[in-house]
Amino acid sequence: MKCMAVYHILSSYQMNCQSTRPAPAVFHRHHPTLPMAKFCVSLWVPAVRPILTILWVFAAGGWALAAAGPDFTLVTLPDTEFYAQNAGGQFGLASTMQALGSAATPAATTTVPTGTTTATKTATHTATHTATHTATHTAVKMPAARYVIVISVDGMGSAYVKPLLQPGLANELSSFKRLQAEGCGTLNARDDADFAITLPNHTSMMTGRGVVGPAGHNWTSNIDPPPGATFESNKGTYIASAFDVTHDHGLRTGIWSGKSKFSLFHTSYGPTTGAPDLSLPDHGRDKIDYEKITANISAADLSADFTRQMTAQPFNFAFFHYRDPDAIGHAIGWSADPASPYAAALKSVDTQIGKILDWVRATPALNGQTSIILTSDHGGHGQTHGDTTNPLDYTIPFYVWGAGVAAGGDLYAINPTTRSAPAATANPPYSGPQPVRNGDAANLALSLLGLGPVPGSTIDRAQDLAVAHPH
Ligand SMILES: [Zn+2]
Repeated sequence: MKCMAVYHILSSYQMNCQSTRPAPAVFHRHHPTLPMAKFCVSLWVPAVRPILTILWVFAAGGWALAAAGPDFTLVTLPDTEFYAQNAGGQFGLASTMQALGSAATPAATTTVPTGTTTATKTATHTATHTATHTATHTAVKMPAARYVIVISVDGMGSAYVKPLLQPGLANELSSFKRLQAEGCGTLNARDDADFAITLPNHTSMMTGRGVVGPAGHNWTSNIDPPPGATFESNKGTYIASAFDVTHDHGLRTGIWSGKSKFSLFHTSYGPTTGAPDLSLPDHGRDKIDYEKITANISAADLSADFTRQMTAQPFNFAFFHYRDPDAIGHAIGWSADPASPYAAALKSVDTQIGKILDWVRATPALNGQTSIILTSDHGGHGQTHGDTTNPLDYTIPFYVWGAGVAAGGDLYAINPTTRSAPAATANPPYSGPQPVRNGDAANLALSLLGLGPVPGSTIDRAQDLAVAHPH
């Protein structure tokens, strides 16, 4: 226990030593392998050495400073790189660390020499990855949820959802109405400002970036990626995602999709392509723990796999993609007719979502600890989409349900100063007042998990999209 306590403090220190925040600064870092009630807090004063790292405990409704004891030691840390890790995941502290307290002997916490592995690890400290590392470990909130499921319904335009909310229809979207009543959201959300096609928008959902421009993820293609292509190979710099942040905190991640082009996420965040995890313990470069990417799989089959996998071992961050309405839209046409095949496809997905809601409520491990974000990549018109001037294409729903989420709220009413409801015929650019966008999903999901924003993200970077009324 002594060993682990020292480790957590050290890990917290490494975030802070790379930070560029003004001094003195206080950081709260939730570490998932600590009990939920414990947070590391570091006081970082760059001009003054050494650095003191202490542990706070949130218990009995308030914060308390944990006294040094059998499982926790106060340490002072000089400003230098000094950690190492062996293949077994053990870690050691280099000789430059000094520990306070009679029992806190760093050498006793390690079984490996520091030299070689430190050099190896340090070599991965490129500027980009250091920035990633720093930003992925700045959680500032109490987590509202232990599990977040982002559900994207491909081709679900708000114009086509609205008619199906009327009671009594054969294709009435009863689960969607339940999300509206029990959660908060809007039918007046937007997709990316410049693209109304699938892969660029799903990338925005996962990375918190728009598509184009220096800050964009720059993935504009909507076909199966060329072999080996990744977000990084396309842009020239690594594009972090919600998978990165979640996984680097030791939490489980998964993706389910019925379209083969979603292999892009697998390729971009795989064992050799994901960013090194520079925190300790090292959770590796493979950012997605489970993938079910199967072309043309039905909504029912994909849902069944999802609940099966979640039951076996829950995923803290799950991204779930239903392809069905888009497929019918392209084949037969987007339609506001409640009796249309497109409406039936929406209803089919709605039924599966209802099963997921019921299953969350009926599963003790998930109920009250799970949030769901429901949105879409684009709507459509005729038998196509992608027209960034057509409200039918860019107007989409965005709903949040579950742990930490207000019931029955409108997201624009809850966020009067940070989001602005756009005119029905506008998809605003990224400069100026922002609508709720599908790109909010990544940083909202992380916020609900109590984690900081995706490094490099711009949409909801401040994680200020509230889903509950302020207390
Ligand atoms: Zn799509």
